[in-house]
Amino acid sequence: MARFIFITGGVVSSLGKGLMAASLAALLQARGYKVRIRKFDPYLNVDPGTMSPYQHGEVYVTDDGAETDLDLGHYERFTGVSARQSDNITSGRVYQNIIQRERRGDYLGATVQVIPHVTDEIKKFAVSEVDDLDFVLCEIGGTVGDIESLPFMEAIRQLRNELEPQQTLSVHVTLVPFIAAAGELKTKPTQHSVRELAALGIKPDVLLCRTEHPLPDGERRKIAQFCNVRPEAVIPALDARSIYSVPTQYHEEGLDEQVLRSFGITDAPEPDLSRWQDVEDRYFNPEGEVTIGVVGKYVGLQDAYKSLNEALVHGGLANRVKVNIEWIDAEIFEGEESDIAAQLEPLHGILVPGGFGERGSEGKIASVRFAKDRKVPFFGICLGMQMACIEAAQSAGISEASSTEFGETKEPVVGIITEWMSEEGLQQREAGGDLGGTMRLGAYDAMLDGNSHISAIYGGAKTISERHRHRYEVNAAYREPIEENGLLFSGWSPDGLLPETVERPDHPWFVGVQFHPELKSKPFDPHPLFAGFVAAALEQSRLV
Ligand code: GLN
Repeated sequence: MARFIFITGGVVSSLGKGLMAASLAALLQARGYKVRIRKFDPYLNVDPGTMSPYQHGEVYVTDDGAETDLDLGHYERFTGVSARQSDNITSGRVYQNIIQRERRGDYLGATVQVIPHVTDEIKKFAVSEVDDLDFVLCEIGGTVGDIESLPFMEAIRQLRNELEPQQTLSVHVTLVPFIAAAGELKTKPTQHSVRELAALGIKPDVLLCRTEHPLPDGERRKIAQFCNVRPEAVIPALDARSIYSVPTQYHEEGLDEQVLRSFGITDAPEPDLSRWQDVEDRYFNPEGEVTIGVVGKYVGLQDAYKSLNEALVHGGLANRVKVNIEWIDAEIFEGEESDIAAQLEPLHGILVPGGFGERGSEGKIASVRFAKDRKVPFFGICLGMQMACIEAAQSAGISEASSTEFGETKEPVVGIITEWMSEEGLQQREAGGDLGGTMRLGAYDAMLDGNSHISAIYGGAKTISERHRHRYEVNAAYREPIEENGLLFSGWSPDGLLPETVERPDHPWFVGVQFHPELKSKPFDPHPLFAGFVAAALEQSRLV
């Protein structure tokens, strides 16, 4: 029987509920339980795919091709469990499903209402595909009191009555602020938040109190008393030194123990935390450091490149080095006076990440050229690989080489594709069609040339599977000039039509990939491309 843990947040947003959910799942997993984490997002977009990274941070793509909330990235990185389409639901999707059914006439003349129709749809989502699991953690986006999240709260309230008595648990994450003038921690916001939750019919079993100062015993008891929770179930959650310390830190504070106790589980195995201890050891005791420049567009907001940031750190863990990341706006390389060398020379590696639109593309191409000419390790991801191919074509004399994403061009080195093969068969779309959900999305195989550098990076693998999220492809018709310039096509889609990876054999480390390897990297299992890139940067750091 799967048990359900509902995680809500109170007082303010950005308390790190996603990280908390991921850490709790990791702790339960460390005790041998099978876990899965789900995210309920109250906003009205059907999925975050069309939202600007500035609005909502990175869009995290799953193997089965869903565009989901970035919290699913945390979940996957902390548990190693591959996220699925069925792990993220939004109000938009709930309403879309209901309205489609209403139009078909499936409600047989009934009035369609928030209760029971919307709440039923939410409940159905929460309890679907859970047969082989021990714990399902459901994180509700937003903060208690938001109008948008009310149907989700109501669905939880109902589920808590409908499922078995000890089958559900409510964990509420709150803030205990420190008022410097008074020199005191204040529990009132937590009391208010719990009262608000109680007014919706949900009594929390465990409170996780985010705080910048240790929570004195007296305050803990006060919270317990006013909030109707056992004192031991009031867990202080001090700011962690790193996100990788959160699982062990919450364990020391008793989070997993109190959760199990609230479920009435007394015979749980002790957790094996060696995986996390090793990650922390590597993270806090680096034996060197490298500096990687990420030349992109959304550099003002690091959440826009969340998985990339993490994967680079993982590359550092694999090599026992600290990775300093310099976020560089590609546009600064586009003016007449831009001094690209001054900016890029101090770097040990240059990465051009995924992205959309023309803005900054010239700066990205210039960065590719700098890395190529100066033999600085270079890693191009998705748009970054496309830029590497355009750079090679331009260097081969095709001066107008460009991407149709940036407008009409005579030399479409990168162009839109309207047909491709997936496991489900031939996929088709129109060039001017909808933007939402129409990209090549999710896991696709790539066939690697057995003699290539990239195959060696993957331990000699000839077939790999990686996640995609793009609308345009490198145009294989330009293979000849690009390869003449020294950029080889080393990996292809299984039908041999779409270039998947490129590399420069005359360069210490120059790799471009059409997919997003950062989505599958984990702290305890760094992705080989990031491990390899950071290793090459370490070599470079010894040269400069
Ligand atoms: N904009 C490019 C495309 O759609 C690249 C996308 C990406 O980097 N994720 O093909």
